[in-house]
Amino acid sequence: MPAIDPDRDCPRCPRLVDFRNTWRTREPDWFNAPVPTFGDRDAEFLVVGLAPGLRGANCTGRPFTGDYAGDLLFATMIDFGFATGSYEARPDDGLTLVGAAITNAVRCVPPENKPTGPEIRECRPFLIATLEAMPRLKAVLALGRIAHDTMLTTLGERRAAHPFGHGARHDIGRFTLFDSYHCSRYNTNTGRLTEEMFRSVFADVRAEIDAG
Ligand code: SF4
Repeated sequence: MPAIDPDRDCPRCPRLVDFRNTWRTREPDWFNAPVPTFGDRDAEFLVVGLAPGLRGANCTGRPFTGDYAGDLLFATMIDFGFATGSYEARPDDGLTLVGAAITNAVRCVPPENKPTGPEIRECRPFLIATLEAMPRLKAVLALGRIAHDTMLTTLGERRAAHPFGHGARHDIGRFTLFDSYHCSRYNTNTGRLTEEMFRSVFADVRAEIDAG
């Protein structure tokens, strides 16, 4: 069983290692390494994104931090009591998650934000280890279809039995998997995902967790 968080020089995906090394040379002050899970293992709620953004988590070292997507994600988490403090797009902004954690299905930044199937597979053991290390987990929120599919594969569930849909919920084993469109700039700019739609999913997660 691998560690929950990969080694800084994890060698498993050659294309991503090359990309990482290119950016270590170009931007030596950036994080440029597999991004660890943010939050603690006692959390009841886990948010699963796809992969770090180049100038977001890959730069700052904290999931969604510095990404456009982080603005909506962290504001919503604060509103629903899953985080306290203020989000200022820096890992030292003092923002604290409350009963929640955030991770990515693929821990290294992929070119064009697109990990390949083999890269998703290579990184899956870290997602499995993360889930296994969180005994109190009640709800997992998959941001986007790829995160949803990765979660199903990780849990040994058939995709046909649990189709992705914004606002959908799937009772799987010891926790419920919730789906949302990814809170990316593209999805919010095109209106595919509105703030209200995103908040509605968080309201469902909050209710599930508060139900005990
Ligand atoms: S994506 Fe995951 S498995 Fe691939 S090199 Fe990065 S940390 Fe390792």
